Amino acid sequence: MELYGKNAVIRPFTAMQRSGRFVHSYIIIGEHGVGKRTSALYAACMLLCDNKCACGECVQCKRVLKNEHPDLRIVERSKKSYSVDDVREVVTDSFTSPNDCDRKIYLFTDCDGWSDAAQAALLKTTEDPTESVYYIFTGERLSSFLGTLISRSMVINIESASKDECTAALISMYPEKEEQELRDVSASFCGNIGRCREYLDGNEKLMENVQRIKKLNSAVSAGDEYACSAVLSQITADRTELSAFLGMFTACVRDSIVIKNGRNDLIGCDEQGSRKMSVLPLSRLISIYDNIMDISRACDLNCNAAAAAAVLSGRLV
Ligand SMILES: [Zn+2]
Repeated sequence: MELYGKNAVIRPFTAMQRSGRFVHSYIIIGEHGVGKRTSALYAACMLLCDNKCACGECVQCKRVLKNEHPDLRIVERSKKSYSVDDVREVVTDSFTSPNDCDRKIYLFTDCDGWSDAAQAALLKTTEDPTESVYYIFTGERLSSFLGTLISRSMVINIESASKDECTAALISMYPEKEEQELRDVSASFCGNIGRCREYLDGNEKLMENVQRIKKLNSAVSAGDEYACSAVLSQITADRTELSAFLGMFTACVRDSIVIKNGRNDLIGCDEQGSRKMSVLPLSRLISIYDNIMDISRACDLNCNAAAAAAVLSGRLV
């Protein structure tokens, strides 16, 4: 199974495979598009593979990857997030034996936003798990999980692949595209393969945001408050959208500070724009960076996206 830049998951699973003893509960954390689900499927393959190596070739691995394995259940949610009833049903089901293998796995995806009560329903089974049962949870933030659940689980933080690893992955996925284009996309999304794929598959929102970032960077360089506000006022649909946009913007401002310091390890989606911004005084860039971080934190709490965007545009020039 090809897994790019995911040593955070490969290493512990290889070690557990060698020792023959696996932890029964895993929490996989990482930002949108970074490969949490792929990592979870890799983990499932490691647990079920006939060749004990997530080979991707054996019957078990193939069934996992096609989502057809009877002993891997991707738990569905009955509401926007997992409910107590969804969890209780899984707990009851976990007492039945596996179908084809000697292990069975429950995968709960995108757990952010699930209630404490839903998680509490899992505590007993994760504390004293049935020998054959394994749980994998994925989410963007570790704070979405109860401390008691975290303490019973192995937490795996997934980060983006390096830009080169990401480019290699994209070349294998999009053989019809020019390598240079794929390199540019990989650089634009800092090695986040999921976001690169969304972009290459024509996710219009993402493409639109890259264009907006370019406009915003140029407005900040020019000290044009009106233009800053014109861009930010378009991204007020909800906090999640604003937060994702600010993540991309932070990377560009960070890059301009990096360039100012004579370094070249850039992560943002607008190198040209970051180079332009880097002529601003360092104190100014740091203040812009701090202001974006303030607003990003407000987005994580419960702010109104339109108000937050308006406050930020006043602080960028
Ligand atoms: Zn296999």
